[in-house]
Amino acid sequence: MIQTGEAFLADTHVHSRFSHDSEARILDICKAAREKHIGAVCITDHADIKPHTDMEEQLRIRKDVALTVAKEKENPDGVELLLGIELACGGFYPQNDIFDRVADTLLTVGSLDCVIGSVHSVGAISTARNNYAQMNKGELLGCMDRYFDAVLAMLEYGQPDVLAHLTYPLRYINGKFERGLNWQDLEPKIKQILSWIIDKHIALEINTSCLGTYYDALMPDKDILRLYRQMGGTLLTLGSDAHKPENLAKGFQQTVAWLKTQNVTQLQYVKNRQFHPYQI
Ligand SMILES: [Zn+2]
Ligand SMILES: [Zn+2]
Repeated sequence: MIQTGEAFLADTHVHSRFSHDSEARILDICKAAREKHIGAVCITDHADIKPHTDMEEQLRIRKDVALTVAKEKENPDGVELLLGIELACGGFYPQNDIFDRVADTLLTVGSLDCVIGSVHSVGAISTARNNYAQMNKGELLGCMDRYFDAVLAMLEYGQPDVLAHLTYPLRYINGKFERGLNWQDLEPKIKQILSWIIDKHIALEINTSCLGTYYDALMPDKDILRLYRQMGGTLLTLGSDAHKPENLAKGFQQTVAWLKTQNVTQLQYVKNRQFHPYQI
């Protein structure tokens, strides 16, 4: 573990070249972590599971990333390197045998530290590809409602350690398309999800990837993080969702500063599927 004199921080959501949308080498990620005083990094490459997903291909990727992470564990930068997976499933229910196939294959590869669960697509449609400009408020709320249902199903059947980037479609609806959807209109479903993860001891990720972009907010945003705490939630992780080494831990310092104003004193990372708390 890095001894820098600075507080320990872990980045629990990072992509490498084993994701289709990243070219980052794991050694370069470790180097960036060292430079940014990040003590632990979890490599969470994509496993987007759909009914037609080629599981052999997914399995091959998992083997490659597990081997590479194992090889780089003793990296010269002294970063604690963890093997994770971003398991994304959305809206193909009740075809829940998908999850059995995942559990029997992908989650058994290597010494897996952490499963983060997310939803990118609802049914066959990527939430990034909808034309939200053409929708009225009811239709926008309907999109979010279907997204939340997919999140609930993913949580129930995927059983991740961490729920990643809750409210993901808002980066498009309120960010790119500037539709100004009010999260209070979504509150009942959000409460249902928060209540579920609190009950099941699933951590909530604070995803910083949008900070400084057209959707300059945390995912989920500060109001929802306050609500989570009010409901009794205590398990929080910090993830940059970096796809390039330079974006590792992006926005962590400002986020930690804000968390301290909210009396949050502890964050988590996940190793060997167990929570590891650290003080901020
Ligand atoms: Zn994601
Ligand atoms: Zn990601």
